[in-house]
Amino acid sequence: MAWNDEFECMPLEQMQKFQLAKLKETVNWVIERVPFYRKKFAEAGIKADDLKSLADISKLPFTVKNDLRDNYPFGLCAVPMNEVVRIHCSSGTTGKPITGPYTADDLDQWAECMARDLWAASLRKGDIVQNAYGMGLFTGGLGFHQGASKIGCAVVPTSSGMTERQIMLMKDFGTTALFCTPSYALTIAERAEEMGMPIKEMPLRVGCFGAEPWSEAMRDEIEQKMGITAMNTYGLTELGGPGMAFECEARKGLHINEDHFLVEIIDPVTFEPVAEGQRGEMVLTSIQRRAMPLIRFRTKDITTLTRERCACGRTLVRMDRITGRTDDMLIINGVNVFPSQIESLLSEIDEVVLQYLLIVRKKRHLDELVIRVEGKKEVFDAGAGRVAVVERKISEHIKGVAGLGATVELVEPKGLKRSEGKAVRVVDERPK
Ligand code: ADP
Ligand code: ZN
Repeated sequence: MAWNDEFECMPLEQMQKFQLAKLKETVNWVIERVPFYRKKFAEAGIKADDLKSLADISKLPFTVKNDLRDNYPFGLCAVPMNEVVRIHCSSGTTGKPITGPYTADDLDQWAECMARDLWAASLRKGDIVQNAYGMGLFTGGLGFHQGASKIGCAVVPTSSGMTERQIMLMKDFGTTALFCTPSYALTIAERAEEMGMPIKEMPLRVGCFGAEPWSEAMRDEIEQKMGITAMNTYGLTELGGPGMAFECEARKGLHINEDHFLVEIIDPVTFEPVAEGQRGEMVLTSIQRRAMPLIRFRTKDITTLTRERCACGRTLVRMDRITGRTDDMLIINGVNVFPSQIESLLSEIDEVVLQYLLIVRKKRHLDELVIRVEGKKEVFDAGAGRVAVVERKISEHIKGVAGLGATVELVEPKGLKRSEGKAVRVVDERPK
């Protein structure tokens, strides 16, 4: 049983009919209300009535992150301000943030999507959930809060940070579910061990983690350290925050809330759609939102889709775990590599823990990749010779599998800064 059987288990044909109707409605909505879209669609010579099938979506122009920046703060808002009841912002580390306005209906839809997500992760009334996503402008905190509240869970809005207090509350309250970024989950697990209060011995049973890329290896590590089931959840501010896609108990990809979001996968270079199962950039259209619907938003996130039947009974299309972002891809002396690939390779080395930082810089005319990764205590106890052996072992492994030359610097235990939200994994020092 899903949270919303009608939509989560809807036959494909019926879903596609629903999507086409909602798509047309949304296209009309933005043409009437947003000058940016009106102009773009006029230039492309397209109207909502030209959309005869879902495939016709490819006739519509894309929307990119810069369009949101150029129209900061409310240029893309499709309703008068007195209908806006909430405004979130992206974590945007550079330049102007991305604004996310919501109508009251938009908020309800968001809570619905999050409830489906958390229900699939096994959350029920009676669960005590600790919400350690940043509470504030970031969509993560309130998004999870609303979803868990809708199910009827007891929500403890701790927000991120103050890790020792998180652990104390977790123990005292008998928290059964944790929401945070995967990197912060590891930070909590590690601190709890240091405090002599291992999470494994607490009632915590499930974690709903997302908002940043993470590997299967990291999932294994979290599950093993905390003694829980770790579920993946995906979303982005531009499309209204978390709750866009979520894992079910089968954990073979993330179901996309297709009645709310139309998904396409395109080749990021040619912009042509790729075949099912082929890797490419995910493009999303929000077909029910009203304050700021986006048409064909290029997410830069890379994934694949499958319509194979899922064991859980949901018919919603599934996306693979995000393996990287087109703008995260490092090109090092002509070799393309994603930080997540390096994370997976590091996870295969017994002598390290999964805390790492990638530094890219110019050395004369060449790029140099420095991988700082934390070694286990035993390695440092064995002396400098052993450290050098492990460093060599790692660089040979990375060279062997990824064809990438890297300088490996083993860092002493706890030598790297711990994450409380989205982890910073890459520092690119090359001149732009
Ligand atoms: P949010 O507030 O929902 O995290 P942001 O706009 O700050 O939204 O960040 C969204 C981006 O975070 C996505 O485009 C994607 O790159 C990344 N992201 C979010 N969830 C996941 C996930 N489960 N796995 C990998 N990357 C993710
Ligand atoms: Zn499923």
